[in-house]
Amino acid sequence: MVQGYETVIGLEVHLQLNTRSKAFCADDASFGGAPNTRVSAISLGHPGTLPMPNRAHVAYAVRLGLALGCHINLVSTFDRKNYFYADLPKGYQITQDKQPICSGGALDIRIGSGVRKVRIHHIHIEEDAGKSIHDQLPDASLIDLNRAGVPLLEIVTEPDLRSAEEVDAFMSAMRRLARYLDISDGNMEQGSMRCDVNVSVRRRGQHTYGTRCEIKNLNSMRFARRAIEYEAGRQIALVESGQVVEQNTLHFDPQTGTTSPLRSKEEAHDYRYFPDPDLPPLVLDTAFIESIRSQMPPLPEEVYRRFTEEYGLSNYDAALLAEEKSVALYFIELCQHTPHTKAAANLVINKLLPWRDENQADLHSFPIGLPALTELLQLIADNQISNSAAYQRLWPALLVEPGQSPAALAQSMDLLQTSDAEFIIALIDQVLAAHPGKVSEFRKGKKGLQGFFMGELMRLSQGKADPKTATAMLLQKLQAL
Ligand code: ADP
Ligand code: MG
Repeated sequence: MVQGYETVIGLEVHLQLNTRSKAFCADDASFGGAPNTRVSAISLGHPGTLPMPNRAHVAYAVRLGLALGCHINLVSTFDRKNYFYADLPKGYQITQDKQPICSGGALDIRIGSGVRKVRIHHIHIEEDAGKSIHDQLPDASLIDLNRAGVPLLEIVTEPDLRSAEEVDAFMSAMRRLARYLDISDGNMEQGSMRCDVNVSVRRRGQHTYGTRCEIKNLNSMRFARRAIEYEAGRQIALVESGQVVEQNTLHFDPQTGTTSPLRSKEEAHDYRYFPDPDLPPLVLDTAFIESIRSQMPPLPEEVYRRFTEEYGLSNYDAALLAEEKSVALYFIELCQHTPHTKAAANLVINKLLPWRDENQADLHSFPIGLPALTELLQLIADNQISNSAAYQRLWPALLVEPGQSPAALAQSMDLLQTSDAEFIIALIDQVLAAHPGKVSEFRKGKKGLQGFFMGELMRLSQGKADPKTATAMLLQKLQAL
């Protein structure tokens, strides 16, 4: 990238919702199905049919709006966005152009250890178009209308993003939020989250924005990244050579890694937006909004902050445990039983998450239950068992007998550590007697040998001497030599 330029990016994110039925009729809205089996006269827009808003669609918009701190507009309106395309049976999409359901708000993104607020311009309700399939027949395209009318939310940001990396962080945060809210799986690969990326460049220090281009329909983060980097470079080269950037709608070609105009100026769409005569304004009452607010789950950002600030976890561990709601809730539950939050985090990250990934199961069905995990963490914290004995020996045994109490099992396996003075003194004497040479070196001032003696002591005790007590007693003995 040529120095001295800043890339400015604003996003239009489309989120496909997981409601049971479509946005304006009762057709099944789930992903897939035999082509063209989930369409009715209403999604086809046959004359005489009437659309009706889907309560869940509206509730999801409010849910997302509340999570992003948006203003929820008690009155919003539906408009028609008209254009002709084979996968759009009605010839228009129902959307909200003039008065969207949510305005303002922001999403926090994390870059390294910093947080940035990306302002949301608005969120509106709309419906999806069908799907054109161009790669099945050599000389024809196929149309599947199952997706026509599936509920979407479009989230439009302010031009607050400054790099492909920030866009990546924004999209990940949006997907995480959508999953926490249970409104969409946010899966870009399956098309449940897509984005249009508006890109402009300006010289550093310049206050006004440059002319933007909009790259349409990016369906993977990898492509979005490449598209942004290519497009910013293209615009900088234009500006550097004294030319101007023309506002355009672009298509990104992953094969060549380049962007090109989707349509020329003459062909530019005039969507002829107008209020949908079949749909009256959407009027919400505050009780509806409050009932949604009262059922909000914990949000990823709150959870992350709780993990770092209250539980004292590292940023990395906190992010890992906050990534998914089910894991986060499990971890919070575990921490309600134990004060040893860092050790609990290590346990979940190193032992439970790999198990879950392997078994595709919920953490609550992990064979060792919360009470036993809590007891194990306490044994370690109390120095009753060493960390290595706990995880290398007791853990596999617990997995075989998950109903057992860890303390009882450790006892029967003779793994409990002792701070018993007689036991430890005997060990110290044994170690010193076995290494007379080292003892005299120590006397002559080679104080670093303390570590060696301690290692021998622990080895002899087979991990059973409580290291704190043993260290203190060894030190006392060595100082008296
Ligand atoms: P339109 O209604 O024509 O789509 P908007 O003003 O609503 O235009 O902007 C659409 C998107 O473009 C928003 O995400 C916004 O943040 C972004 N955007 C606006 N101006 C710029 C700019 N100069 N550079 C980059 N992005 C921009
Ligand atoms: Mg736009």
